[in-house]
Amino acid sequence: MDIALALAWIRALAAAVERHRDELTALDTAIGDGDHGANLSRGFTAVTAALDAPDAPEPATVGAVLTRTGTILLSKVGGASGPLYGSAFRAMGATLDGPTATPAELADALAAGLAALRDLGGAVPGDKTVVDAWTPAVAAFRAAAPAGLAAAAAAAADAAERGAEDTVPLQARKGRASYLGPRSIGHRDPGAASTALIFRALADATH
Ligand code: ADP
Ligand code: MG
Ligand code: MG
Repeated sequence: MDIALALAWIRALAAAVERHRDELTALDTAIGDGDHGANLSRGFTAVTAALDAPDAPEPATVGAVLTRTGTILLSKVGGASGPLYGSAFRAMGATLDGPTATPAELADALAAGLAALRDLGGAVPGDKTVVDAWTPAVAAFRAAAPAGLAAAAAAAADAAERGAEDTVPLQARKGRASYLGPRSIGHRDPGAASTALIFRALADATH
């Protein structure tokens, strides 16, 4: 991955958030407070505006793109997802300090993002959160990394989408959805669904 590809990833993600905004809202209306689509739309609109601003500094590293993305998400997105995704992107950015990153380095960065999510939110796999999509995605990315970035990103996107789908039968144990107890069963977790967008955008930008 080079800096241009990191920028393409974030732009593809911002576009995907807009395309899926209503779907994320519907998922969060079912088991939360209905703002997940709006939260991420606000955040990624600010991210693309900052990246495209005429006076925006040229990022010197792959990590700088991701760190900047995370910082803006932290400042613009309220709720649970802003701090979670903001911290994850900042953690990924902190590990990528060169103008390019190998698939193995990107696997480490994605794992650092997952660690940040888990540290901040305290969720483990099975709690019906972002962690349920992010965890299999990191494992799939790492396993496929020797085959190259495109293969790794495609495998990670497939795994994230399966992970999101696999949240349907789970009862939420973290976040707002956990207030519903057993009534949270039978719905896809909105954050797991948006995590699948993150990995699908990486695959789309890469191939
Ligand atoms: P809020 O719930 O504050 O309105 P959002 O709707 O933007 O925030 O995001 C909700 C998503 O955040 C959930 O679907 C879930 O995936 C994720 N989430 C909530 N709490 C946690 C947590 N403690 N750990 C990991 N993910 C969490
Ligand atoms: Mg919400
Ligand atoms: Mg909210």
